[in-house]
Amino acid sequence: MYKPFQINKQRKIQYLRHLIQIIVIVFLYSKIFGIKSSSIIVPFLHPTQSLYSTAIGAYDLLEYSLTSGLLPILALGVILTTSLTVGKLFCGWACPLGFVQDLMAYIPIKKRSFGKDMEKNFKELKYAVVVIFLFLAFLFGLSSQDYEKEYKNPFSDCPFNVISPSSTLFAYIPWALFWKPTVFFTSILAWIKIALLLATLISSTIYPRFFCRYVCPLGTILGIPSDYKFLKIKIKSKRTEDINSMLNRVCPMKVSIERNSSYINSSSCIHCGNCIAEMPNDLKQEFF
Ligand code: SF4
Ligand code: SF4
Repeated sequence: MYKPFQINKQRKIQYLRHLIQIIVIVFLYSKIFGIKSSSIIVPFLHPTQSLYSTAIGAYDLLEYSLTSGLLPILALGVILTTSLTVGKLFCGWACPLGFVQDLMAYIPIKKRSFGKDMEKNFKELKYAVVVIFLFLAFLFGLSSQDYEKEYKNPFSDCPFNVISPSSTLFAYIPWALFWKPTVFFTSILAWIKIALLLATLISSTIYPRFFCRYVCPLGTILGIPSDYKFLKIKIKSKRTEDINSMLNRVCPMKVSIERNSSYINSSSCIHCGNCIAEMPNDLKQEFF
């Protein structure tokens, strides 16, 4: 029977998820309201250098430790603890750039997916991004005493931040608008940053969470030990084909399952809850 104003279970979970994402953004930038910075390290992409940031991004800390010639024990501790316990839960429920991509995916443009070969190539790209940027950070760490050279090189602090759309959107653009608008007329780098941000936003309207799926170095590292994480989605039925067709329709990360799998333990899953809300009799979230 048609019920006006009925909100289905999947929508309810998504509204709750977006509410939490908004609360996290308010917390992360609450320095603007006079709140002091904290030393909380957050396991998702967050530009620590933002003028109004109250927290430290784990990936920023990882690269910053390497470029300073230090062992990144604290950053790796946070990232590995998160990935082994809740996997990429924070990607689904807290990351501001993840939220922005979720919003872009609401734009009513036909969603597409890549063929198998293209998907494989793009997935390899994300491992290349991790290796390249951590190696760059390590190299800068070897010459970290040369302060004058460092000052001239924008990559010498946190190399990935230079091109990170999260950093451009939440740190660089607000800084430039408030303090140095002339940078948009004088710096080629400013326009490279903006072009990469636009590419991220536009791609996520057609391929939801494009950046998370194929580029983000932190998402890649968080997904590596996914077979061993405690938080898993148990598959309670044998309806593999039905589950895959539902995932193809509702999963933002385009996860799929193999026949006879007991769990959805894909390294891409961000625990958004869409699939569980769609098929609660077949799927169940479990801890351990
Ligand atoms: S994978 Fe996406 S959601 Fe996760 S940290 Fe990276 S940008 Fe954020
Ligand atoms: S598998 Fe389910 S919980 Fe994981 S990302 Fe896809 S829809 Fe969300």
